[in-house]
This record gives sequence, structure tokens and C-alpha cells, in this order.
Amino acid sequence: MRMPAIVKQLAARLLGRTEGELRPQDLRRMRDVLRFSALFASTILLPALLLSALALSSIRSQVLAVDAELRSRANATSEQVQLELARIFDRFEAATQERLARNESPLNNLGELSPYLRGAYRFDAAGALAAPVELGALPQPVPAPLRFRNALRAGRAAEAEADWRRAAAHYERAAGLSTHPIHVAEARLARARVIGDAGGTREAEQAYSDVYGDFAAVRDERGFRVGDLALLKGAELRLAREPDVGSVALQNLVEQLLDSPWTVGLAGEATVVRRAIGHLEGAADPDWLARTRARLNERTDQLYWAEIVAAELELVAVPTPEGDFRYAGARIGSPSIWATVQLSGDLYAFSFSAQSLFEDLSQAATRIGALEEDLIAELLLPGQPQPMGVFTVEPLGPWLPTVTAVVRQADPKQLAERKDRARLARLAVVTVAVFMVAVGVVFSARIIGREVENARIKADFAANVSHELRSPITQIRLKGEALQLGLVDPGEDTQQHYDAIVHEAERLSRLVDNVLDFAAIERGAKKYSLRPDDLTAIVYHTVEATRSAVEARGLELIVDLPEDLPVAWVDREAVGQVLTNLLSNAAKYGADGGYVGVRVRVGLEGIDVSVWDRGIGIDPKDQAQIFEHFYRSNDPNVRRRKGTGIGLTIVRYIVEAHGGSVSVESRSGVGTTFTVTFPLEPPAGVGAKA
Ligand code: ADP
Repeated sequence: MRMPAIVKQLAARLLGRTEGELRPQDLRRMRDVLRFSALFASTILLPALLLSALALSSIRSQVLAVDAELRSRANATSEQVQLELARIFDRFEAATQERLARNESPLNNLGELSPYLRGAYRFDAAGALAAPVELGALPQPVPAPLRFRNALRAGRAAEAEADWRRAAAHYERAAGLSTHPIHVAEARLARARVIGDAGGTREAEQAYSDVYGDFAAVRDERGFRVGDLALLKGAELRLAREPDVGSVALQNLVEQLLDSPWTVGLAGEATVVRRAIGHLEGAADPDWLARTRARLNERTDQLYWAEIVAAELELVAVPTPEGDFRYAGARIGSPSIWATVQLSGDLYAFSFSAQSLFEDLSQAATRIGALEEDLIAELLLPGQPQPMGVFTVEPLGPWLPTVTAVVRQADPKQLAERKDRARLARLAVVTVAVFMVAVGVVFSARIIGREVENARIKADFAANVSHELRSPITQIRLKGEALQLGLVDPGEDTQQHYDAIVHEAERLSRLVDNVLDFAAIERGAKKYSLRPDDLTAIVYHTVEATRSAVEARGLELIVDLPEDLPVAWVDREAVGQVLTNLLSNAAKYGADGGYVGVRVRVGLEGIDVSVWDRGIGIDPKDQAQIFEHFYRSNDPNVRRRKGTGIGLTIVRYIVEAHGGSVSVESRSGVGTTFTVTFPLEPPAGVGAKA
């Protein structure tokens, strides 16, 4: 299969192969790695990422949900306030309709219709105010002729002297001296009064009756209707003379006045009624009196209110469809909310106090807002600054269009903090989860990498072992065959062939020993029998056994053994194997160094056996791993030499089984020293042959 160079490079990196061509098994392994990676990505990485994304988006939607929930509660609260207001006017409409259904006027007992109602007005077909008040004005004062004034003054002077007859005569004269009804009426009323004062009760009554007949509708300069005054005075005189008849006359006057429209801005009717009622105290039916006094109060209030809204009264009479209430809300500066409706053909206008409605509704809003712990509802007048954390701002319908009902958070800071805390907590959970996944991915990648490496190392090991086996076997066979066929010169050549066969056989057996030992170590079946022994002797024999192999590589073997070494607890064969392995490595990797040395010393921890060379050295990053099984440095200088990667593993195992240790000191290109230390005392529990 042909592959582009970059792909090859990538695959080589992935598989940790730094030298040699990629082999089919490498590609197979790469396929496995890719398959595993794809599986890992689709079953762990992708779901983890999706879940994280989901979690993050859920944080956002949770915050939004909190807002939405609060907003919807705020809306509901705002609606409640609106409803409260609408209910006030619904009740008013129903009560008004009901009043009409009973064929009663909606102009009286306003409190029954709505507590906020201050005035109710009926307009005539022409749109003019007809009941219970009408628009009018105080008559313009008319200058009286001098003679008229003189006559009046003379009358008053006579009155002061209690000369009733003369006074009456002066007043009568005065009545003839002006043509203006106000003046005439004034003079004639004065005349009637002095006649009464003079004791001519009947005559006075007649005089009042005449004045009534002539000037019933004339208003005097103070706003009193002359007719009303005449009736009142006449009835007062009658009451003294004939209480029953006088009382009825006064009651009739009161009823008549209360049934007639009063003029806005003038208080004459109110005064007359109040005075008449005062006379009736104790004389008339108490129920009637109470009812009438209530009517008087209401009418006076209406009159007072009508004065306040007088300017608007002229504007509100806009015809509406029958039975359909129309509202004109309180505008800035207006004290009134207006409702107009056409009922049974009449046009009515109702005036509500915007102020008291606003106050009550404010209280209701506070009450409604208090039902929701974290919300506040309030009314804002135009121009009032909007508070923080507002959810809804609703104008109060057609009734209070400039006022807004505002629903806001009770404590925006606290809510923001609560939201932040919740968000942070969730974010922390997501972050930790993502972090854990990332850690998991890194570790998994490492484990996978190590497994790939292991697989490669094992494959290499098998190849290396076969390679190592082949060369001694080939040598033995070649030499053997040469001898067998008599192709060798007798004498030195023959000897050399025999030596070579023995040498290769030794090498073979060393290799096989190593492999078998390694297999036993891996199985956990390898046992050593430690006994006190002379380490110098063991080292000496082993060095001598390997001397020829070392020297065959052109190396000088330097041996430094002390004379009097203490006895050490060792397995003779195993120590021999340790030394053989170290020496064969020194010969193999120190071949260009000229020297290979062995030195035995008593050290701090026990007896130190060092094997050194001046060869290629070991890269620091390899030093930690060279004792791992199958490990061979990737250094091309190492790779060029045959090896299986189990020699040092066996060394370490044997040394540790002796309770000792092995260390390496090395510099690249300078040389290497391996030192194994055997303790003088045997490890605990060892002493006899296992
Ligand atoms: P190998 O069969 O490869 O020699 P060993 O377990 O004996 O296996 O050694 C492991 C590795 O340690 C070697 O592959 C080599 O990289 C390194 N090594 C061991 N001894 C030496 C030495 N004397 N000089 C340089 N490198 C050495």
C-alpha cells in the first residue's frame, strides 16, 4: 500500500516508531488505534461535550426561567390592581342601572352608587345642565336711582325708630321709584317685613305672597331668589300663627327647593333650605327631617364639587349610545374622573374624585403587592421617577390615564445576588464535570498510548529474540557443517571452529537462560536460594567466563577486586547472571571505548559491584526506563545493536530479591557505570534454600 509521506510520518509518530519502514502490523495497529479513538470520541467525548453544552444552555434558561416566572407573577399582580380599579367602576355601573330599573333618579344618594362619586348631573336635550344644578351667574348689580336709595334710607331710619307705619310708607314709595325688578322686589320685601314687625301678620303674609307672585324667579344681588325669600318669610309668619299650616308651607318650600336645580356658584337655595329646616326642628316628622337634612348636605356637597369642576361641566355633555358608559379619565390638573352615559333618553355625567380614588387604589396596590413576598406594587403619578427593577408599567385604563401601576422587585440586589449564586454553583458543577472529562481523556489517551507502546515493545521483543537466536544458531551450524565436511584445515582452524561453536552455544544458552528466567519472573515462579558466599570468587569466575567474549570485541577488561571481602548472602548463579548481563551490555554498548571494568567495594549499604564502560552512554530520559521489561532506547546507536530489553529487568529483579539495589550513572557519549549493592545481611525470612 502506498501512502503519502506525511501520513506515514503521522502514523509513525502515533505508533512511536522512529526508525525503519512502517510494517503491515504497524498499520494494523494504527487501524486499531484509530478504531478505538473513534469509539472513544463517539461514546465518551461527544456525549460529554453535548452534555456540557446542554448544561451550559440550561444555566442560561434557568436564569431566564426565574425572570420569566417573576415577570409573570408581576403581570398577574399588575392585572389585580387594574381589576380592582375596573371593579370599582363595574359596581358603579351596575348600581346606576339598578337605580334606573327601579325608576329612581341616579342624582341622589351618590354614596350608594360609588364611594368616590362626588357629583351626578343630568343634561337636557340641548346639552345644557338641567339637574341637580345649573350653570348661572350672580346678577350684575344695577345702579339704583338716587331717589330710590333715599327712600330706602328713610325707611331704614324710620325702622330704627320703630315707626313701622312710616317705614312701610317709605318702602312702598321706594318700590315706585325704580323700574328694575331687583330694586322693586327689595323694597317690597322690606315693606312686608316692617308690616310683619308692626304686628300686621295677615297683611304681611299677603304682602309676601304678592311679592312671590310678582318676582318668584328674580334673584337679588346676593344670589337669593326673591320668590324663595318671600315664601320663607310668609311661611315663618304662618308658622307662628298656625303651626300646622306654616310647617306644611315650609316643608313644601324645602321639597320644592331640593327638587329644583341649584345654581353653581350661588348658595341662596342652600341658605333658605337650612333656615326652613331650622324652623321645622321639633315641628316636622323627625324621619322627614333626617332625610331632608341628608339631602341638603348631599346637595350642598354637590354644589360645592360642581363649583370645583364647573369648567369641565360644560364640556362633558357629549351624547353616547344608550346605556354605554364612557369614561374620561382624570387629566393632569383635573380633580375629576368623568363617566357619561345616556340612560332612558337622558344624558348623565358622573364626577368621581380622582384624589380619593388614587389614594384608595394606592393602598389596594400595596395590599395586593404584599401578597407576593418579593414584589412591590405601587402607583406612580406623572413625573415621579421610576424605581429600580421594574417589571410592569401599566397606565390605569381610561380612568386614571396619567397614573401608572408599577410592579417591581422588592429587592433587586438580593434577587440579582441569588441568581448569580445559582448560576455560579451550576457553572462550577459544569466546569468540574468538564474538567473531569478532560482529565479522563488525557489519562485514557496516556493509557492507550502506553498500550500501543506495550504492543509495539512486545512485537519488537519477539522479533529481537528470534533475531538474537538466529545468529548463534547459524554460526554453530556453519562451523559444525564445515567441520563435518572436513572443510577446515586441521590444527589452528579446527580449534578456532570448536571455540566458536562453544562461544556461540554459550551465547545461546545465556540468551535462553535470560528468556526463561524472564518468563519465570513474569510468572512469579522464580526463586533464589541465598547462602553466605564469597562474592569476590563469584565475580572473579564470571569475569573470567566472559573475558574472551569481551576481549573479542577489542576491549580491555579491567578488574579491581579487594582482598578481604566480608561474606555476603547471595545466590551464586543469580549473581553470576547479573554480572554476565551487565558485562555483556558494557561490551555491547561500550565497544568503542577501549575499556570495560569491574570493581567490587564495601560500600555504605553493603558490597557494591560496579561494571563500567566508556561507550555510548544513556540519555537521561532513558535512564528511568531501562530497567522496565522489553525497554530498549530508541537511540539509533542502541537499535543498531542486537538486544531483547530484558537483561536489566532480570538484573533488577535478582538484586531486589537479594534485598539490594541497582543504580546507574551515565552520560551520553562518555560512558556508563552500573552499580549493584548486595546487603551483608540477608533479607528478612531468607536464610535457607527455598
Ligand atoms: P538489551 O538487550 O537491549 O541490551 P537490556 O535490558 O540489557 O536490554 O538494556 C536495556 C537498555 O539499556 C538497552 O537497550 C540500552 O538502551 C540501555 N543500556 C544498557 N546497558 C547500557 C550500557 N552499558 N551503555 C549504554 N546503554 C545501555
